[in-house]
Amino acid sequence: MLRIENLHKQFGDLAAVDGLNLQVGRGETVVMMGPSGCGKSTTIRTVNRLVEPDRGRIMFGDIDITKLNADELMAVRKKIGFVFQQFNLIHRLTALENVMLGLVMDGMPREIARAKAGAALIKVGLDKHFQHKPGEMSGGQQQRVGIARALAFEPELMLWDEPTASLDPILVREVLVVMEELAKYRASTMLVVTHELSFALHVADRIVLMNKGRVVEEGVPTQVFVKPQSSIGEQYKELIE
Ligand code: ATP
Ligand code: MG
Repeated sequence: MLRIENLHKQFGDLAAVDGLNLQVGRGETVVMMGPSGCGKSTTIRTVNRLVEPDRGRIMFGDIDITKLNADELMAVRKKIGFVFQQFNLIHRLTALENVMLGLVMDGMPREIARAKAGAALIKVGLDKHFQHKPGEMSGGQQQRVGIARALAFEPELMLWDEPTASLDPILVREVLVVMEELAKYRASTMLVVTHELSFALHVADRIVLMNKGRVVEEGVPTQVFVKPQSSIGEQYKELIE
C-alpha cells in the first residue's frame, strides 16, 4: 500500500531524513518511534507532501507521490487521512460542521456530507456532540472530531503524528481506544508516530524504530521490545520492563 524508498530530506546542513526505507502493507498498523528530532514528523509529512522530499520514491499503490502534479496530488490526498498533534478545528463551527467542511469544499452535496460526517462522529463515539463547538468539548473529544474529519473521507491510508501528545493523560486513553478500534478491524491502513508504548506493544502489527533520519530496527512488537537489535531498541525495552 505504502512503500517509501531511499527518502532524503535536508534542512540546511541537517539531514532530517537520510536514506529511509519503510513499507506499510494494506490493513497493517505500523508504529514509528524514535528520539525527538530523529525525523519521524518529517518522514510522515512527506507522504502527502506537506514536506517536499529531496530524493527518493513514495509509492502509494503504484503511484509515485513524489512525481504528482498539483491536481494529481489533490486527488491522492483525499485518500490519505492525516491526524496531527494539534486538532486545528474551526472554533466557530460545531463538531458536525467541522467534519462536513472538507467534504462540502470537495463538492459533496450538503445532505450527503452531513450523513457522512454524522457517521464518522458516531464511529469515534461522539454521537451526543454533533452540535458542540470545540470550546465546549474536552481535548480528547476535540481530537476525536479531528479523527472523524479524516475518517469522513474514507481514506485508504491514515497517518497519525503524535495524536495524543497534547492531551491530558486521562484523555489520552479515549483517543487510543478509537485508534485501536480502527486498527483492530483492519479497516484502515495506519502509519502512527506515537510515544505511547502500550499502544505500540499491543496494537501495532509492526514497529519501526528510527534514529538520525534512518530506520535502525523493525519487526513485530515482541521482537523489537523483547530482543532488540539496536541501542534505541534497548532503551525502549528498558522502559517497558
Ligand atoms: P519529535 O519527536 O520531537 O516530534 P521528530 O522525530 O518528529 O521529533 P522532525 O520534526 O522530523 O523530528 O525533525 C527532524 C529534524 O529536522 C530536527 O532536527 C528538526 O529540528 C529539523 N527540522 C524539522 N523541520 C524543519 C524545518 N522546517 N526547517 C528546519 N529544520 C527542520
Ligand atoms: Mg515530530
